[in-house]
Parts: sequence; C-alpha cells; structure tokens
Amino acid sequence: MDQRFNALKFIVLFTVFIFSMMSAQAALETMTISGKKYVTMRSIKSHYGFSKMSVSGKSIVLRKAKIKMEFTRGGSTCYMNGLKYVLAKPVGTSGARFIVSHTDVAKMIDPILKPSFIPNAKSFNTIVIDPGHGGKDAGAVNRLGTEAGYNLKVGRTLAAGLRAKGFKVVMTRDSNVYLSLKQRVAVANRYPNAIFISIHFNASSRSSARGIETFTLSPVGVAGYGRGLKSSDYRARSGNFQDSANIALATAIHGRMKERTEGYKVPDRGVKRARFSVLSGIKHPAILIEGGFMSNPSEARLIESTKYQSVIATAVYEGIFRYRNALNSRGK
Ligand SMILES: [Zn+2]
Repeated sequence: MDQRFNALKFIVLFTVFIFSMMSAQAALETMTISGKKYVTMRSIKSHYGFSKMSVSGKSIVLRKAKIKMEFTRGGSTCYMNGLKYVLAKPVGTSGARFIVSHTDVAKMIDPILKPSFIPNAKSFNTIVIDPGHGGKDAGAVNRLGTEAGYNLKVGRTLAAGLRAKGFKVVMTRDSNVYLSLKQRVAVANRYPNAIFISIHFNASSRSSARGIETFTLSPVGVAGYGRGLKSSDYRARSGNFQDSANIALATAIHGRMKERTEGYKVPDRGVKRARFSVLSGIKHPAILIEGGFMSNPSEARLIESTKYQSVIATAVYEGIFRYRNALNSRGK
C-alpha cells in the first residue's frame, strides 16, 4: 500500500516537474513599438508558469500557486501579492494583446519572480547602514524633531540587532555629523560583500501625504520617480550592475515594512525608482527607505515614538533575512 502510494506520489511529482520545466522554457514574445521593446502579457504568463490570466475591464490578473500579479491596462503600477511597484512604462496594448515594457520584465518582474536566480548577487556578511542627513543638514524638520535624529535612532536600533546576529555592521555616521552623499558612498564602497540601506523619513508640502516607500536605482532608460526622461538616464551608473539584486532587496525589505506597519494604518506607497546619488555610485545592492511622513500630523507622532522607530528597524532587520534566504535558496 505504502509502495503504491509512493509510486503514485512519484508520478504526480514527476508530472508536475515536467510541466514546470515546459512552462519555464516558454519563450517571452517580444515586439518593438516606436523603438521600444515590449513583451506580451500572455508570454509572461507562460514563461513564468502562471496557471491563469483573467481580464475584467481594465484589470489583468496572473495567478499561480501563492503568487498573484495584478496589472491595469494603461496603468503605471503593478501589485505582486498586494505589494505595490511603480512600473517604468504603463501597461499597453497591441491589437488584442496586453504588453509590458521589456525593462519592467527584465528589471522587475524577472528578479522578483526568480530571486534565487539573480545572476550577480553575492552572499553578504556586511550591512552598511546609512542614517540620512546629519549635522548642518537636519533633513525634514517638524515641531517634534528632526529627520536626521530619527534616521540615526532607527539606524542604531537596526545596527544593534544585526550585530547581535553576528553581522558586520558599518554605520556611515553614528553621531549628528554632516556627510556628503559622495562620502557616504565612499564609506560603503570600502567594504566587500555588503548591502547598503539608507534610512530616511519623508516630508511633503501637502500635510495629507502619508505612507512608507522604498527606492532603488532606476535602471538604464528609466526616469526617476516623478521626473521626465532625460538623456543622462541612458547612462549606466555603478549601482546599475546590481539592478536585479536591488529590486530583490527592495522587495524583501519593503514587503516586511508593509506587513509591520499595517497595524499602524500607514499606507503603502510602493517600491519606486530614483537616481539618488547614494544609490547611483554604490557597488552593492542598495535601497533607500522612507519610513513615513513627518509632515503628516498622525505619522509625525508615530515617528516620534520609540515603538514605531523600532517597528521600522525590526522590519528592515527581518527583510534582510528574507533577502538572504532568497539568495541562499539558489540552486535548490
Ligand atoms: Zn531624507
């Protein structure tokens, strides 16, 4: 009975294996429109082994076990298991087909769906923590405190947690001193096998603006968030050599931040792209997190609380382990 069960189990598993190999091998169908390369949604479905694609109105949903990706026709955001990403180009159509820019497939969808296959992501033992601003540059300021101060508090809490787990931790600053963006990058690039996390809190002229967001370097040919495309956007920066690792790191940490801050009703503004100096010059997988808006009265109070500061630090800490697990699962 046991043997028959095992044989049956083997046949089922083998069939699943063959089907997953077949679906993994399906090629992406590309097309060029006005000099820009696109990939059809239906080939994304088969290439990544999604079992279902449902279209209703403007919504396009791809599903497979444990993964749900949501797109909107003409829309510039996509959701993976509820986590928001800002796309380089809106989802378009060509005839009856939905199309996604090749950059979004290569630089976002692929590394998110296959984090364990990121070609050049190295294992790491050093975390460079960069508390933004400091000294003569206070960053955002409200009546409760300065961004430079909050960034340092979160950075120190995170550092303590990581050191207790045996990581080597480098702080670009560990006091209220001023460092240029170049100096921060120079500190980080002195260490091999590192990842880089810059910690910030946001501010806006609109006091209603709220929520967390995470930035990674814009891939070549992709504008920084909220900016038009410039000719310099086509020049690769040091950070672009880690494009895939950058988005995988952002996904791991931002995902954890979203889960950890949900109880505080802090909205998710998503994973975004920018060409910030600290992300451009860096030779390690790097992200910049914004843990909430100091210009919003209720988030200002949260950010002032030691409890919320440690929520952000804990989320980053746990996200680092999530990223490491994704890298460690390579080849398995
Ligand atoms: Zn800042």
